[in-house]
Amino acid sequence: MSVDRNKLEALLKWYRQEVGANLIAAIIVNREGLVMAAVKGESETEVEEDVIAGVSALVEPVLTRITEEFSSGAFGTGTFDTEEQRIIFCEAGPEAIFVTVLDSIAMVDPIFPYAYLAAEKIARIFDGRTVSPVIPKLISDHDTQKIERKVDKLQKIKVKSGEYAYKLILGGEGGVGKTSMVHRFVENAFQTDYKSTIGTSIMKKECDFEGLDSKVRFVLWDLAGQAQFKRVRQSYLSNAEAGILVYDVTRKDTLDKVENWFSEIKDVSPNISLILVGNKIDLTEDRVISTEMGEAFAKKLNLSYIETSAKTGENINDAFKMLALQRIREYVFTEEV
Ligand code: GDP
Ligand code: MG
Repeated sequence: MSVDRNKLEALLKWYRQEVGANLIAAIIVNREGLVMAAVKGESETEVEEDVIAGVSALVEPVLTRITEEFSSGAFGTGTFDTEEQRIIFCEAGPEAIFVTVLDSIAMVDPIFPYAYLAAEKIARIFDGRTVSPVIPKLISDHDTQKIERKVDKLQKIKVKSGEYAYKLILGGEGGVGKTSMVHRFVENAFQTDYKSTIGTSIMKKECDFEGLDSKVRFVLWDLAGQAQFKRVRQSYLSNAEAGILVYDVTRKDTLDKVENWFSEIKDVSPNISLILVGNKIDLTEDRVISTEMGEAFAKKLNLSYIETSAKTGENINDAFKMLALQRIREYVFTEEV
């Protein structure tokens, strides 16, 4: 395997800059626990090798557990606290695990988005896909409260009349195609301008509508595999204005679980606009949920319904546009009438 280590290191340097003073070290290990790339924090005074060696020793015993627990999802995440450190593990694709070591006073939540962002980029680097090592500059200072406020602002700035920005989340079981849908949606229209954000967990995309004066900008939060951790999930689901519930038309269990996702999301973000999406319709042979069944289910939850294939791209743009229109209709037009 010939992974581009220079790219990994460039990425880690950006990561260090974004996380700031609380970072002790950031390390990329492979599934055997071998260090592929590492940086120490800005304020660390010890020699780099010592820090990295210390952290590697720390990582080793939990690595087995991580690998077992997250073997099913693509981006599992976990946090562990020791007396002196707080550690965030993110699965970075099938081959690597991204480890962030913070000092014990650090707040983990504001750092999570960056860890995900970095983990997805690492996965792409391992995949040999093109990826910018630059983590988009969402946050420029290290005061965690300010960071939270800024992220919050980013989620719902009213740019100017007729232009709206919404935080969009995706709910649904692992493997139904959420990440694929987001990538398909973002890459198709912003191939030139948005290259640096492709493959990240937080992405932006605008929707224009012909014959309509409004523009909707989505800030897409891809929940990824950390969904099994309720504490993490809640902070991601909160303050969301728009959401897509996704199931896989070839797996009945994923439709059964939609109801749980629906109520959990509604609990955390009661005013969210939601739609239901049946994905993977290109797999006609394996399909077990018919359009009628999907529609009936959506009707029961009072949701709009659309079927997509992230693989062929069918209806992907329309799904997001449908959601944008629904949001405008529910919360903009009605308020102003
Ligand atoms: P997530 O866990 O919901 O984010 O799902 P992913 O986007 O990671 O997709 C899980 C798997 O399903 C991947 O192997 C995708 O390539 C595949 N996949 C996603 N969408 C489609 C689709 O529309 N059709 C087919 N055939 N495969 C898909
Ligand atoms: Mg995903």
